[in-house]
Amino acid sequence: MLKEKIKNLTLIFLTISVFLCIINFRNDIASIVSKKENLEEISLLIDAGHGGQDGGAVSSNGVAEADINLGISQKTQLIASFIGIPSKLTRTDENSLNFSSENTLKENKNSDLKARVALAKEYRSADFVSIHLNKFSDRRYFGAQVFHKNDSSSVLLAQEIQKSLYIIDENNTREAKSVPNANYIMENIPNTGVIVECGFLSNEREEQLLQNADYHVKLAMSIVGGYTGYKYNR
Ligand SMILES: [Zn+2]
Repeated sequence: MLKEKIKNLTLIFLTISVFLCIINFRNDIASIVSKKENLEEISLLIDAGHGGQDGGAVSSNGVAEADINLGISQKTQLIASFIGIPSKLTRTDENSLNFSSENTLKENKNSDLKARVALAKEYRSADFVSIHLNKFSDRRYFGAQVFHKNDSSSVLLAQEIQKSLYIIDENNTREAKSVPNANYIMENIPNTGVIVECGFLSNEREEQLLQNADYHVKLAMSIVGGYTGYKYNR
């Protein structure tokens, strides 16, 4: 008799809990959707590399990284917002930032980079994740790799995203490393900062994968998964 009562009470309790969870979940989604952008609230600044006249790395088949970077970045923002991480894109379309037809290619490239750094400074409490693709003369090389600024939080963020990227390619043995060459953005932003090189356009298999929207989702999930690990498990 008592057992039966406890069982019934447990059932009622579980039903109420599930109901409350659903209500909370709906409220969370509603608040994410209705939330206006707030400088301090932006947690993640997603930087789609290149754009406009600057297509970035181009494969031997003519596939350029700029549009792919944008696709991965937009999906990263979508997944981040779905789990309640407020984010902002530095570039929301195919154009570069601050483009002027009066300027030379080099001047436009410089003003684009400066605009990205200015955004990073404006959102200085946000973590800066730059999305790029790699290319190398030897076509055998493959695998997504994360590069970081040389401070402890950037190192940690890079390691978390790198670990998360192994999930989508178990043959990827690349490790998180510091940004190799002089990099204007990474040298000038105050934020925690990493560059995710999402794969090699020079590798036949990855060139195919990187043109696939489903693969962009996988990469985006890895990036957000790694970011979550960095942000909430410290
Ligand atoms: Zn690039």
